[in-house]
Amino acid sequence: MKNSRYSILFEPLKIGPVTAPNRFYAAPHATGHGWNQPHGAIALRAMKAEGGWGTVVVQMTEIAPDSDMASHPMERIWDDTDLPRHAAQVEAIKQHGSLAAIELAHGGMRARNITTGISAIGPSALPVLRPEVPTQAREMSTADIKAFRESHKKAAYRAKQAGYDILYVYAAHDLSLLSNFLSIRTNQRTDEYGGSLNNRLRLFKEVLEDTLEVARSGAAGNECAVAVRFSVAEPGIANGLTHDGEGRDVIEALAELPDLWDVNISGWSNDSATARFSEEGHQQPYTEFVKSVTTKPVVGVGRFTSPDLMVSLIKTGKLDFIGAARPSIADPFLPNKIQQDRIEDIRECIGCNICVSMDSYGLPIRCTQNPTISEEWRRGWHPEAPAISRKLQSHLIIGAGPAGLECAVTLSRAGHKVTIADAASEAGGRVTREARLPGLNSFTRVRDYRMQQLSSNVNVDIYLESEMNAEEVAEFDSDTKIIATGATWRKDLVGSTNLAASDTKTQIFSPDDIMALALQDIPACNIAVYDDDHFYIASSIAELLANVGHTVTYITPMPTIATWTDHTLDQQRIIDRMASLNISMHPNTVHKPDGKFYCTLSGKCIRIDHSEMVFVGARIPVDDLYSALLKSNTRHLYRAGDCVSPGIIQAAVLSGHSVAKEILNGKKITTQREQIALQQPVYPS
Ligand code: ADP
Ligand code: SF4
Repeated sequence: MKNSRYSILFEPLKIGPVTAPNRFYAAPHATGHGWNQPHGAIALRAMKAEGGWGTVVVQMTEIAPDSDMASHPMERIWDDTDLPRHAAQVEAIKQHGSLAAIELAHGGMRARNITTGISAIGPSALPVLRPEVPTQAREMSTADIKAFRESHKKAAYRAKQAGYDILYVYAAHDLSLLSNFLSIRTNQRTDEYGGSLNNRLRLFKEVLEDTLEVARSGAAGNECAVAVRFSVAEPGIANGLTHDGEGRDVIEALAELPDLWDVNISGWSNDSATARFSEEGHQQPYTEFVKSVTTKPVVGVGRFTSPDLMVSLIKTGKLDFIGAARPSIADPFLPNKIQQDRIEDIRECIGCNICVSMDSYGLPIRCTQNPTISEEWRRGWHPEAPAISRKLQSHLIIGAGPAGLECAVTLSRAGHKVTIADAASEAGGRVTREARLPGLNSFTRVRDYRMQQLSSNVNVDIYLESEMNAEEVAEFDSDTKIIATGATWRKDLVGSTNLAASDTKTQIFSPDDIMALALQDIPACNIAVYDDDHFYIASSIAELLANVGHTVTYITPMPTIATWTDHTLDQQRIIDRMASLNISMHPNTVHKPDGKFYCTLSGKCIRIDHSEMVFVGARIPVDDLYSALLKSNTRHLYRAGDCVSPGIIQAAVLSGHSVAKEILNGKKITTQREQIALQQPVYPS
């Protein structure tokens, strides 16, 4: 490696009987593929190994049918029929010299067993840990506990047989039977598994010892390691663990038992907090004590993308391995880029949690920064390797937003000549504008990574302050024209819940107005922010206006605040932030053409004092340029991003990438599908 400043990150380290080749640890994370989409899942994880992650961990893997997490797309290792899939996965990861690890887990009171029809199990007879599911867990008897230990042990044997180097014991995220036993919230037993911490910890310790027994069994040289994933703190959860309370006591009690501690904070919304509400390394204050309690290696996460911070964490003895889920999604080649001293090429995670949102739908994950994620097998896309193209061409791209920039990067990387023109004085389109709103500054990374790639490529010319009309575009000498002119926010009250345009007497500002205005141009007033978009923009604008002294009321026709942010794990923090700024919040409240607000439940008029309103609803594609070029029969004309259909930033990036791939391939993109092999007989007689 060229830069010895980072060499410590590439030192091997022993994890019990196995050795990790470096300190980059691709932490277990939801991929949205699950056990029934193995090709995609395997290719996604193998790509991380190819990109230099020395250890690649497979996400939560259900150990048995009574840990059935359907409809969440988890992995499974219920019985031997799962083994071929796991063996192929291990082989794909190991072929790049990485260690393969598996997070064995029983979902406990989060496993509803809907498909298996077995009753859910837990330490006590309580409702399962999803309030919207009308199911209770059965209190486990001593025999049940014995059976669970046996089934965990069997799963560990199977995992070892499949070739995994590291077997996990999982007690994190409120997603584990072991966490349920540990927590006084869920464990109300009075036997030797309940009451004192020692008793509540008993099952955790027994399972850890069982797993160690399996890991160390067999012939010499055939041993594998055991890791524990444990949440040392549960901030914001009533009666949750704390890092200076029982969280620490647990680490002290089991300190030298596992070969590795993989520590974090729980629930998932704390562990995967968005950049809007958390900094890189936000878990360190909770987890850094662990190294002082154990001599075993420690891995921690915290959306790490800065190599200097990584080095410092290791040098100062806070971590031994740099764990990463989202940074490894956004850039599977992050370790290799550091090793090759190509820091400026790192595609940094922006902490937007679109990846998380896709998993919550049970779908293969998408990423705002990495349009190739989940497409490694399906479309044969590689995040780094230039696409092979039949012939070198030249392209004119109008619009330097996320779609235009991604399209330009993909084309120019393949050796093509690219000219980009944008009317604005700064590149980035919507990400540049939105990054000015509170908490959204990390969005600039979408622009900055791509501008860096383009500025270092001699085949690329970028012209800002260059608005182009149809005539100019048509006359431009290039093989293709790609229109990526974005979208503008509507002011006519069309939004997700209202498709009919209407006028109102109230003065309306759109998000574009707010992002363009100097805030002193909005007279101090009572301002209503009406959210019929339901993602992050309305609450961020409300925050901005409250910060500069306006009296702000947030209103939405939906039953919850910023409804879609539930999928990005942001919702509660948005509510807390608005409450802390004295923004009054009115869910279930609809704006009608008479300019008044009505309760969607009672139909009654609600008085909300306001002189102006920011309307956050739908957007209008800026497609006049494309339409004019189409009309004039411009050849080899393409369009990408919001000017096709306005959506989230991730969709614009994917669209720009897809258009470039289509041009490079010379044909429409084809997609492989995961197919189920039919068994005989197909219909039992
Ligand atoms: P997307 O998300 O699809 O990339 P954006 O709205 O972020 O869309 O970006 C679109 C960009 O296109 C903006 O920066 C805008 O200035 C630019 N643009 C729109 N129309 C023209 C035009 N006629 N000529 C040059 N640039 C344009
Ligand atoms: Fe990071 Fe957003 Fe990509 Fe997730 S979707 S990995 S949060 S950039």
